This record gives sequence, C-alpha cells and structure tokens, in this order.
Amino acid sequence: MTTREEFEQAQEEALRLLERAQIILTAEETNRIEVTDFGLGDLLSVGIESFTYVNTKLVCAKELVLLPRQTCPEHIHPAPGKEETFRCRWGEVYLYVPGEVAPHPKAVPPQGKEQTYTVWHEIILTPGKQHTVPQGTLHWFQAGANGAVMSEFSSAAYDDLDSWTDGEVSIS
Ligand code: ZN
Repeated sequence: MTTREEFEQAQEEALRLLERAQIILTAEETNRIEVTDFGLGDLLSVGIESFTYVNTKLVCAKELVLLPRQTCPEHIHPAPGKEETFRCRWGEVYLYVPGEVAPHPKAVPPQGKEQTYTVWHEIILTPGKQHTVPQGTLHWFQAGANGAVMSEFSSAAYDDLDSWTDGEVSIS
C-alpha cells in the first residue's frame, strides 16, 4: 500500500516538476495537486499527479505530472466518450494508442503487468508537441527518465466511468 508519506512526497516532486515547466499555481492550488496510485500500491511505477483547472459539463483542463518512468495504465473512456489532447510542457512522454506496433518502444510496461498493455503504436511527446486521442481509443503513457509535465485539454471528464485494461486498477 502507498503510505501517506509517499503520497505527500509525490505531491512535492510534482510541484518541483511543474516549477521546472514554469507552470504557476497559487499556494492554495498546490495543496490541491492530486496523486493517485490507481489502487495498485506501486505509486512510483504506476501513478499520476494532476491539477484540474476546470471540469464542467463541456470541457476539462488539467496539468498532468509523471515522475521518472511513472506510467498511467491503459484505459478507454466509454460513452459519452472523452476526447483528450495531450501537450508536453516539460520532459518526455511515450504515448501509446492502437496502430502499427513500435518495433523498439521507449516505454517499459510495469513489471508483472505486461499483459495489460495491449496497444503499442508509439507517439513521442517532447515540449511543444501534442497529440489528440479520439473518443473510444485505448491509450496509456509513460514518462521518460526525468519525468514529465503535460497539459490535458479534453471534453468533460467522468473519471469514475473509465475502463481499465488491468482489472485491478481502481480510482477513488
Ligand atoms: Zn485517458
């Protein structure tokens, strides 16, 4: 299980990465940086840190922070279906969607979970690069060795409806 200390450390590390990306949050907002381990208890390997600017019935905008080599596991957003645009602000992100399989993917799936990563078309995002994941598309991503900061612009988020390839994933 991820301890409270580990969650707090991840929050602090996320703040440092956001500062490196020159993204300004107010002091009050920094306390609202969310950390999830997706219920797997392996936060440094599988997890994400995020700050939500806005999430209404129409749109959602967030900053996503990944610690070095941290992975957001494979998932799909069921109907009504969220469309997501990821723009890298700092570091490097390896994003995977259905399509031609990358012969030498940059990401390494979390140990013991390899079978829950099924889409291997690779998109490498570096600062200034962005990619839009259409509705109803399986996807997952991992940060490079230094971690990463990505902005996410999307239609409304209903995160509790998301469907994860790894049946052990849970978000609360
Ligand atoms: Zn998604």
